[in-house]
Amino acid sequence: MSLFVMKFGGSSVGDTERMQRVAKRVAQKQDEGHQCVVVVSAMGDTTDELIDQAKILNDKLPAREMDMLLTTGEQISIALLSMAIQSLGRETVSYTGWQAGFRTEPVHGKARITDIQPERVLRSLKEGKIVIVAGFQGISEEGEITTLGRGGSDTTAVALAAAIKADACEIYTDVDGVYSTDPRIVKVARKLSEISYDEMLELAHLGTAVLHPRAVEYAKHSKVPLVVRSSFTYNEGTVVKEEAALEQGVVVSGIAYDKNVARISILGVEDIPGVLAGMFGALAKEQIDVDIIVQSGISDGKADFSFTVNLDDRQRAIDVIQGMESILPFREITSEDGLVKISIVGAGMVSHPGVAAQMFDVISSQGVNIKMVSTSEIKVSCVVEGTKLNEVIRALHTAYNLDAEVQAFVGGPQDRR
Ligand code: ADP
Ligand code: ASP
Ligand code: MG
Repeated sequence: MSLFVMKFGGSSVGDTERMQRVAKRVAQKQDEGHQCVVVVSAMGDTTDELIDQAKILNDKLPAREMDMLLTTGEQISIALLSMAIQSLGRETVSYTGWQAGFRTEPVHGKARITDIQPERVLRSLKEGKIVIVAGFQGISEEGEITTLGRGGSDTTAVALAAAIKADACEIYTDVDGVYSTDPRIVKVARKLSEISYDEMLELAHLGTAVLHPRAVEYAKHSKVPLVVRSSFTYNEGTVVKEEAALEQGVVVSGIAYDKNVARISILGVEDIPGVLAGMFGALAKEQIDVDIIVQSGISDGKADFSFTVNLDDRQRAIDVIQGMESILPFREITSEDGLVKISIVGAGMVSHPGVAAQMFDVISSQGVNIKMVSTSEIKVSCVVEGTKLNEVIRALHTAYNLDAEVQAFVGGPQDRR
């Protein structure tokens, strides 16, 4: 008998029919002689719909109340799925994140898990029950309800799998594994049978929605076997592991994109020690993640800086910098949206010079201007105008020999999108 954590994302539980399909799949796993803990997301687009409602009522989206609101989405899912599995004659129990023992930092919107006390989950398993846990949520020391960031149910699943020493964590979604790029953009994206933690971590950080970055971090540290697979087919999925076999001649394994990018430029800043530390320290204090930073144009002792932040953080970032004007004077602050960050990732890049140059070449051949670049050993990212995103990704996919002969599997029989 093995212990599995099975996580089903929003589209897998998008309506009652899909919920029943998930219920059968879980019952089947139990019939095969396994113990099951099931982690679920909110149904379909519930989280986005709740955010839209909140925006109408208060455009500041107060962080504490947002967590209170958004966690209800997952709570609906656990209750309904539990009922659906019970109707198949199984014993189940549903738990919210806090009932399942998830403790987090006292941060709203993107809290990190600090501790998991899974005794209640383990007790229920011992009683022969299937345990259903709400993804994406926890509770702080102070008793405040928190969320783990968009897409965070993956992290709930992997962290719980590590805490209860599960034999594997299976992430069920609406594509049948991790592909070389988003199969919704490139129909001939290639399904990867395995991928290394490091490559997956880069892809997830760079915007690949199929796995939440912190879920990959947990898997890497705890060594919980992690598989991404479809909730609609029984195809083999993608195994995320320490050492994935490098395919012969493949330099780039995957292409990621992130539409959630804003560029902020601060012009005419005093070029003295401590300016960057002061500015970015203040942003960090406000929990604003800064991505690519470029310093340019030093003249008359003044410098210009540009950096990227998540689009949702743009106004807050501008407010923080403007709030510091008296201690760190600057001439002007501007911002730009409508941008995307496109990234290529591959462990094989280390030993292949010219990969970045080829990327720049492909992007420019699409008539697209590159605004910012950042590189590491296994990735190159370019921030570009978002208007030709699909064309650029398709051209890169072909240029790096990633096109497959067969079309990718996307969605279920009644795919909503
Ligand atoms: P879930 O609701 O199951 O959590 P998500 O929408 O978060 O699902 O993630 C699955 C989606 O990720 C797919 O529908 C696909 O469009 C997108 N995606 C982006 N890049 C990739 C990739 N490289 N491989 C697979 N899916 C990807
Ligand atoms: N429901 C949350 C979201 O839409 C968490 C998740 O689905 O993982 O981001
Ligand atoms: Mg997801």
